[in-house]
Amino acid sequence: MTNQTAIPPGDHPDLVLFNIPVALFRAFPGRPVALRTADPGEAPQLLGPEVPAEVAFLQVTDLTQDLAPLADWGDGLALDLVMADPATELPLLYRCTGLIDRHPVRVTIPLMPGLARAVKLAVSLGFSVRLLGHQPTPDGVTEALQALDGYLHNTTVARPVEPFHSVLLGFLNDSPLGLWSLLEQDPDEIRILDDQGTVSPDQGPASVTTWCDTLVADGAECRGCPYLRPCGGYFKWPQTDYDCAGVKALFAGLRAAADELRQGLADYAATGG
Ligand code: SF4
Repeated sequence: MTNQTAIPPGDHPDLVLFNIPVALFRAFPGRPVALRTADPGEAPQLLGPEVPAEVAFLQVTDLTQDLAPLADWGDGLALDLVMADPATELPLLYRCTGLIDRHPVRVTIPLMPGLARAVKLAVSLGFSVRLLGHQPTPDGVTEALQALDGYLHNTTVARPVEPFHSVLLGFLNDSPLGLWSLLEQDPDEIRILDDQGTVSPDQGPASVTTWCDTLVADGAECRGCPYLRPCGGYFKWPQTDYDCAGVKALFAGLRAAADELRQGLADYAATGG
């Protein structure tokens, strides 16, 4: 399902964004890009003092590195700090707080054990959060449910935790948003390219629509799933025999919260509030 041929930079003019290594930036002139690097000093060095307008955000994939070069550069540029292992990298989040003064900062946390504490700490430090990953283990699901509970009921949470935030709003407004798009994995909207400029095998299927249609046509669990619209078969990637009981509980929790919120709003409106 992956394309191992290097993508010509002028290709896919309809695409919203390429996610590319910083080193490939000059190969994509005039194209909107998200830049990715393990070395926080690489982008300031390559791009110079002014961040080009084409750069939508900068993704840093190694939080053990010295983040100081980003604290004095790129005012207003959004940063996405990617945790590799939330269980072991939790203390590293404290080192990232100095970036908030200059940048909107999101922390991407994999759906792995350790995520619940990482989400809690990240939002308490003022970061937005994106939970990323396809097929969490039972322990990962348990922690995702804990994180959801904290997101829904902790009144001090002031930053969005995706995909909870947007899926909840989608249920509330009866217009569910798809996880592939929400989590920046839909190849119709973003292409994640590796160091050679080829589509990363981690991105997912070449077409979300085809993937979803195939799952339904093949009679997979998705066919009768009440969450097909927001999910789009996201959790059946890459193993189609993944048991979705746990992740369905996440969707159920979000739908119940949306129903409760809708009822609360209706009750409030009925009082003339
Ligand atoms: S939750 Fe599982 S069964 Fe339901 S649509 Fe998503 S991948 Fe398919």
